[in-house]
Amino acid sequence: MSRDSRRDPRYDILFEPVPIGPVTARNRFYQVPHCNGMGYRDPTALAWMRGVKAEGGWAVVCTEQVEFHHTSDITPFIELRLWDDRDIPMLARMADRIHEFGSLAGIELAYNGVNGPNFYSREVPMGPSALPVMTFTYDPVQARAMTRRDIRDLRRWHRAAAVRARRAGFDLVYVYAGHSLTFLHHFLSRHYNRRTDEYGGSLENRVRLLKEILIDTREAVGDTCAVPCRISMDEFLGADGLEKSEAEDAIGLLAELPDLWDLVLAAWENDSVTSRFGPEGGHEPFIEGVRKLTTKPVVAVGRYTSPDRMVSVIRKGLVDLIGCARPSIADPFLPRKIEQGRPEDIRECIGCNICVSGDFTMSPIRCTQNPTMGEEWRKGWHPERIRPKASNKSVLIVGAGPAGLEAALALGKRGYDVTLAEKGTELGGRVVRECRLPGLSAWARVRDHREQQLHQLANVRIYFDSELDAESVLEFGFPRVVVATGSRWRRDGIGHHWTRPMPIATGARVLSPDDVMDGTTLPGGRRVVVWDDDNYYMGGLMAEVLADMGCETYYLTPAPEVSTWTRNTMEQHRIQARLLEKGVRIHPFANLESVADGVISASCVFTGRTEEVEADAVMLVTSREPEDRLAHDLDARAAEWHDARIESVVTIGDALAPATIAHAVYAGRRYAEELDGAPDTGDEVPFRREITELSPLR
Ligand code: ADP
Ligand code: SF4
Repeated sequence: MSRDSRRDPRYDILFEPVPIGPVTARNRFYQVPHCNGMGYRDPTALAWMRGVKAEGGWAVVCTEQVEFHHTSDITPFIELRLWDDRDIPMLARMADRIHEFGSLAGIELAYNGVNGPNFYSREVPMGPSALPVMTFTYDPVQARAMTRRDIRDLRRWHRAAAVRARRAGFDLVYVYAGHSLTFLHHFLSRHYNRRTDEYGGSLENRVRLLKEILIDTREAVGDTCAVPCRISMDEFLGADGLEKSEAEDAIGLLAELPDLWDLVLAAWENDSVTSRFGPEGGHEPFIEGVRKLTTKPVVAVGRYTSPDRMVSVIRKGLVDLIGCARPSIADPFLPRKIEQGRPEDIRECIGCNICVSGDFTMSPIRCTQNPTMGEEWRKGWHPERIRPKASNKSVLIVGAGPAGLEAALALGKRGYDVTLAEKGTELGGRVVRECRLPGLSAWARVRDHREQQLHQLANVRIYFDSELDAESVLEFGFPRVVVATGSRWRRDGIGHHWTRPMPIATGARVLSPDDVMDGTTLPGGRRVVVWDDDNYYMGGLMAEVLADMGCETYYLTPAPEVSTWTRNTMEQHRIQARLLEKGVRIHPFANLESVADGVISASCVFTGRTEEVEADAVMLVTSREPEDRLAHDLDARAAEWHDARIESVVTIGDALAPATIAHAVYAGRRYAEELDGAPDTGDEVPFRREITELSPLR
């Protein structure tokens, strides 16, 4: 990237080149390895996703974990694979794509060892010591302790993988000892390593294999590739595991061996904390001082989205390169926007970890802020470009929540004349309401970014205090109408358990999250039962809010734990801990059967046995009801559309079917991308995909 005169000189330091061993990063923006739920099922989609980061100015763009030997598979398919030469072309496609835009390609070789049950390869897992495999799913498989011969084998396999990585075209070949995920972390950490030979016991012994692998890798890749080392600074197990002082000692012992130090926290849930539980720059106390231990460049993440903060961490000498995963997902063009002197255009990560959920749900990565993420090749979407309009027909969008805002922005960028009508007095819909709840303030960025961008578009007009009904929409006569009117929380208990309204006595005090977001408070000391049959974040959040009001709060859920879907955003344990700390009484495996005045009845999901609990009020968090009256009314008057010059009415986002904010943003984008394109009849798959090539039978 060349020096751009529009760039604020304050940020020049971010564009200084940084030598990393034999290669040079053209600036300090470094996309660290990150998972994405695509893996070797979607190789070209993945290559294009990484390519867009390179195009957006990231000097280094890395893969996610790449399993390099069949004795440690990362089932099922969500990571990359480099088992033999046949896997090289898939990886080469990604490296080539990254190189096309002038960036360096990094590969993270991974051998999970004791972290995987090997359900695909059926090999016996191995690690430093004989232990059960450390999966979230408590798989009934144990790993065996590696012998010296195993260690020699594994060193050979790692060398072979490094050679293949170089042949695939990668410029940085990682030695991965991070996140409690790989054998090198397990050898380093006394928590996993109970060996009594020269690879266990003292730190010098526990670091031995890492040292050997670093030397092996350098020999394997020669003087054309850099060899970064990714290491955990703390694994939050106290003295039983790696802590900062010991991690620093380990770095001290290896100081000049790698070409770069990539510092992480372990396990992954401590490295990628959501904004609800951790601030920007949360890693800084853990990485402070490491740069003094080595002359090699240091990179670390911190969910950095502010260029000023980035400059400050460089100036303070904490790091040489700004590591980003999530900020590069939310805005692949973050570096370029700073370089072009328009940092205000950055689409800032909100720290919600929906991106992480792609990995956990085995689906391609998606992002709340960046609806094009994962669709770069599948649908040909681009985070910064969208094709120009294909007609002069104007569009009316009703509702300025995430769906309506994104539709307005993307249509506006295409050049359509857009009118956005909002019944309230602010933009943002559910986002402005939810961002006032504890810990969710960063979610306002969904609105802030779009509001700021919309102000630059003269062809998008916004009207507040404009609650539209079918009559007014017909009167306006816009050829295209988008209904993005959102949803509201149900008060009748319908959800997973009740598919019809549940028994609620007249006079019983029933609350919904909307009441709390509208400002309803309860006097302290009241007993409130929260029934969470939704199981994402809202139920846990309502229990937290009610406990903060001083209510005696009971939390009931049919799930085994609080806010169980947040396992996919790696927050579940933190939410449960927070509620316990606030004195909330948690009752798992419970359904709400009836609500009377002053008392509720709950049943056990296994036995059906019921129990009564006195309660002054009940908070129902079960599901949401689409605000689809306008859509239905317009539908009922379809015969009048022609005279009103209306060609189409499309309902999107929560008004169609409530889901995550990411779903709503995607729905808005999809409408805008597809307008005046080939009609989607549903007969064709609307995205590109790759299909496994069949082997010849003989
Ligand atoms: P989504 O997540 O699908 O974008 P939200 O609930 O966040 O949905 O946003 C819906 C927005 O639509 C809210 O800001 C709401 O005030 C607005 N809205 C709902 N009904 C109407 C209407 N009839 N006319 C104009 N605006 C409406
Ligand atoms: Fe950030 Fe959320 Fe996007 Fe992930 S999904 S990059 S956390 S905004």
